[in-house]
Amino acid sequence: MSAPKKTVLLIEDEPQIVMGLRDALEFEGFHVLSSGKGREGVALARAESPDLVILDIMLPDVSGYTVCEELRRWSSVVPLIMLTARSQETDKIRGLDVGADDYVTKPFSVNELIARMRALLRRASRQSGAPEVLEIDGVTVNLSAHTITTRGGGEATEPLSFFEVELLRLLVERAGQAVSRDEILSKIWGLEPLSTNRTVDNFIVKLRKKIERSPEKPEHIVTVYGFGYKFVAESR
Ligand code: CA
Repeated sequence: MSAPKKTVLLIEDEPQIVMGLRDALEFEGFHVLSSGKGREGVALARAESPDLVILDIMLPDVSGYTVCEELRRWSSVVPLIMLTARSQETDKIRGLDVGADDYVTKPFSVNELIARMRALLRRASRQSGAPEVLEIDGVTVNLSAHTITTRGGGEATEPLSFFEVELLRLLVERAGQAVSRDEILSKIWGLEPLSTNRTVDNFIVKLRKKIERSPEKPEHIVTVYGFGYKFVAESR
């Protein structure tokens, strides 16, 4: 029972990046369309309705920012990730301003890009939309801002990492159900070469330290022995 292939449109003019990404994405089960030019990319999006767009900023004909604005006229909701050789904060903000959902700075890890793609696709496919702000036993987690309030008074918040957020999001979406380590690993970490079931366990430990009143006696992120983990909303 495999889901239908998701189509990814890659608008990028560097042949080596296109080749490498095409191989990796096809291996991961995506259908890949690509164009090396901005205007052609927009036309391709209109014609083929991809499920996700990966967009380079430096293109030979028009800038990625312009392409992004054009794409947003075509679809305000298609997940869009910008690739940028620049790392200045202003370029990132400008990308998000014109409608990108996320950005990855070159040189980038293909595995991180794929993990971010999967996160955006999960979000896009959500029917009712899980809440982006969770109240768990006295702590407030903001999944879109990647922050958690610290317990014990005050308005102090601390950051959550990308993988912490996606792991928590997956468990919360399936609250009350056991989710296997293997499923967590493949959904959140994808092909990340150094990730194993231990990676999942380590991130569970990190989340418990931030969420649980007694991390060694967890009440919300509970272990299902020999299988995986389960999120329990109510504390006992
Ligand atoms: Ca380029």
